[in-house]
Amino acid sequence: MPDMKYILVTGGVISGVGKGVIASSFGTILKSCGIDVTSIKIDPYINIDAGTFSPYEHGEVYVLDDGGEVDLDLGNYERFLDITLHRDNNITTGKIYQQVIERERRGDYLGKTVQVIPHITDAIQEWVQRVAHIPVTKDNAPPRVCIVELGGTIGDIESMSFVEAFRQFQFRVKRENFCCAHVSLVPMVNNLFQPKATGEPKTKPTQSSVRELRGLGLSPDLILCRSEKPINHTVKEKISNFCHVAPEQVLCIHDLSSVYHVPLLMESQGLVQYLNDRLQLNISMPRPGRYMQKWRNLAKRVDNLRKEVNIALVGKYTKLEDSYASVTKALQHACIAAGSKLNLTYIEAVNLEKQTKIDDPVSYHKAWQDLCKSDGVIVPGGFGQRGMEGKIEACQWCRETQKPMLGICLGLQAAVIEFARNVLGLKGANSTEVDPNCEDKLIIDMPEHHPGNLGGTMRLGKRKTFLEPSVITRLYNSDVIEERHRHRYEVNPEYIDRLEASGLRFVGKDESRTRMEVASVESHPYYVTVQFHPEYLSRPLSPSPPFLGLILASLGKLKSYLSKGCRFSPRNQSDVSSDEEDDLCLSDENDKTVVENGKVVNGFNKLVIE
Ligand code: GLN
Repeated sequence: MPDMKYILVTGGVISGVGKGVIASSFGTILKSCGIDVTSIKIDPYINIDAGTFSPYEHGEVYVLDDGGEVDLDLGNYERFLDITLHRDNNITTGKIYQQVIERERRGDYLGKTVQVIPHITDAIQEWVQRVAHIPVTKDNAPPRVCIVELGGTIGDIESMSFVEAFRQFQFRVKRENFCCAHVSLVPMVNNLFQPKATGEPKTKPTQSSVRELRGLGLSPDLILCRSEKPINHTVKEKISNFCHVAPEQVLCIHDLSSVYHVPLLMESQGLVQYLNDRLQLNISMPRPGRYMQKWRNLAKRVDNLRKEVNIALVGKYTKLEDSYASVTKALQHACIAAGSKLNLTYIEAVNLEKQTKIDDPVSYHKAWQDLCKSDGVIVPGGFGQRGMEGKIEACQWCRETQKPMLGICLGLQAAVIEFARNVLGLKGANSTEVDPNCEDKLIIDMPEHHPGNLGGTMRLGKRKTFLEPSVITRLYNSDVIEERHRHRYEVNPEYIDRLEASGLRFVGKDESRTRMEVASVESHPYYVTVQFHPEYLSRPLSPSPPFLGLILASLGKLKSYLSKGCRFSPRNQSDVSSDEEDDLCLSDENDKTVVENGKVVNGFNKLVIE
């Protein structure tokens, strides 16, 4: 078996410059060369996992097939590389220390003093080597390259043991199997107090962070400079001179119209040739033109999306957009397939509530105005009491005004409560999460899933849902689906018959047929709510069916799509995975009027019947 190749991606100067996207882009490029890639994200915090984070801390909690609750960067890898990661692909300081302390308690260290070097650093290296070999694709192919992204920036106290571990690791796995890519920032500055896009690009921060990295024993093989505007050749040469690397080892990545351009820009600067030589990958250099065609098409298509679709997201963590990262991406993927441009408005759920009309009428009216202006509404997942009544208001408005709506997890629960209150007349209906003593307990907890602590005690990960004939079954083009879950509460089975008799149909259930997974009003243009989180399995070229349904319904195109065979359903996807056929699904014709056999069909119809 050939040696595993490792690309360590570190960050310098500041965080938040897109290290995750750059790291994923390495994988995208290598995948286009036919190399199987896996990835590991290191988060140097002490938490064991991201499960107990408030979305305000680090953005959304991303959930994996195996139920792992991990950093949202793992979502970037899954989406960019179309792979399925495992919980061990996310390393935290907490996980490493927990393992070492457990070993110490077992007596594995034979009475020795347990120290950061060598015990913690050894544990890190062993973990990386073990996880790198775990297959992440459907065909179980062993990965050849592992991208390791180290969170934070070089010099942080928290990441010191990881940096030291990789200093040792480069010798453990040998030079030709390890390289380090350092993502830095080149700010544009006019004078010290006025950083400006028009100013002069400054290389000093990059120089210092590279010096710091070297001081810790890691030499960058690639320096990736993030900047607002393109950087010219002189600056590139300066970085090369001052940072002691050849000019071809400096890559410049300025702000781009979409993330899909990032791999293309990196590739255009000779990255494949460099990695091929440095890591001895034996790639037979791809034919120009066909190579990375999928990404070229995708980037072009995203740039050319014109017709806007207005979607309102009624949530409670709307101040930090990362809190809904996967939901936003899933909406974008659906928009790409539907050929329209996403115009997303975040509405703070509390602002839709009657009490806000008294306390803060301006916000109240603004929120309702935003809701009314939308073409479609999404009510995403969430926890706790705040904003629940606002979500229920949004559900009622969408149901009564025939506005397309997708409810996810808490969104399903809000829709069920709303229906019970306003259609069945059960005014005291609520969830026991919000009001444990409510009169009608429509949403109840699942005690078997939370025996004690809060960490990792929900119904988590990929589970099967069995669908009955309905709009959602047609969108998936299947009656058995698998999606990821993350919840503690569920619909109370005692109320099912009454709800169904009045028009809220439970068209998706788990294998025991007692747990409700999908609730929809089939007479509505699109009122679909799901207990699972379909956003986690959405991919740029393979949109999530419930999201696609929402976007198409918002555009008034759902009926024609359904009648034409559901081009993008997962079952129909296999034939669009290769580069050659991408043009088919990424056709730009959707907005044009096309005449076929004497009949006018719009472009989207044409697209879906092909
Ligand atoms: N709070 C709800 C539950 O635990 C919904 C969770 C969610 O939306 N992810 O069931």
